Amino acid sequence: MPCRSRSDPVNEISAPRIRAIRHRLLAWFGGAKRDLPWRQTSDPYAIWLSEAMLQQTQVATVIPYYHRFLQRFPTVRDLAAADLDAVLELWAGLGYYARARNLHRAAQAVVEQHAGRFPRTADGLRGLPGVGDYTAGAIASIAFGERAAVVDGNVARVFSRLFCIRENLQGGPGRDRLWRIAEKLVPADRPGDFNQALMELGATVCLPKNGAMCLTCPLKSQCGAFAAGRVADLPVKKIKTPVKDELHVVAAIVDSRNRWLVIQRPTEGLWGGLWELPTMVAKSSAARIDTASQAEMLADRLVDRDIEINSRPFCDITHQLTHRTVRFVGHVCRMVGRPVSARHSAKESDVVIPKRRWLPIREINAIGISTAMRKVLESLVTINGTHVRKRLSRSP
Ligand code: SF4
Repeated sequence: MPCRSRSDPVNEISAPRIRAIRHRLLAWFGGAKRDLPWRQTSDPYAIWLSEAMLQQTQVATVIPYYHRFLQRFPTVRDLAAADLDAVLELWAGLGYYARARNLHRAAQAVVEQHAGRFPRTADGLRGLPGVGDYTAGAIASIAFGERAAVVDGNVARVFSRLFCIRENLQGGPGRDRLWRIAEKLVPADRPGDFNQALMELGATVCLPKNGAMCLTCPLKSQCGAFAAGRVADLPVKKIKTPVKDELHVVAAIVDSRNRWLVIQRPTEGLWGGLWELPTMVAKSSAARIDTASQAEMLADRLVDRDIEINSRPFCDITHQLTHRTVRFVGHVCRMVGRPVSARHSAKESDVVIPKRRWLPIREINAIGISTAMRKVLESLVTINGTHVRKRLSRSP
């Protein structure tokens, strides 16, 4: 079945071919599947958690987070009852924090609207915050045995090669075609295993670019791209979104008696709900920005004391986001003059003022901060003779 001039129409995929794909894939999966912790359970909560964590994140990175999360929040009720801060703390380092916020909101919806039980169908699951077609299909098929389809990046790559799909797979007709194929292929018997087998094939055998290991692939006899020698051409590469201009951010360590001011970001948006040193987008995009003055201005807005600024930056680092490079330049600002007021006293400030806290350095690591902010903090080797990097890494 070589690649034809047009992609295989979905309704022309023959019944014998469907049977062969199902049979070969399931037989292969039985012997080749990786022993992953979320494959030891049929608990929809644990499966949902793993699916949320695995979006955009490698399996090896996810495993320790998955264990820690389940240890701290063993059930959906535990997660629903938790503070968002505690959830974000556990999520810190995984990135894409909207996933953690959605998990928390969806857990509350399961408890409040479904008496703590997950909806058992893909349609029902789609009503939960952050649960889209893919996640709904994965939970419904794996946890509840519903004949529901899944299409993720791995499945899309496998289908594009098996069925010679050359369209853009991100949206429009290409995406629709993928879903229609997935719905046609998924069997009523063992739909969860079948879906996992497809994803496993994409993750371990039908690899991107020139990485496909076709000679060991259980589907090579069914594969249009393999028959036509077109594997490396599929899927058709998407046009890359150009990286936007660098964003300059000024960060300030506002130091009061070896406690640093940290601010909670707004819940929505980039790094939403996480804690960070005070930051502001630099006022000029010119190559030379007076970052020291801007850090002083930033600190001045936040505290009611004179500020002594160190004009030499303690950090000048870049952090790459998907479509943007963020450059952080940080300065140390010390409060001088009269003792700090009660509003900012070390004793009371942690609880009195919401969204801002004064913390000893070693405690900053224990709250939810982004990977970018961790890089900023770790770039500061010494301040006041304190070895910050060591303190951060020693913290729980
Ligand atoms: S034969 Fe090659 S291209 Fe086709 S599904 Fe298998 S690994 Fe992918």
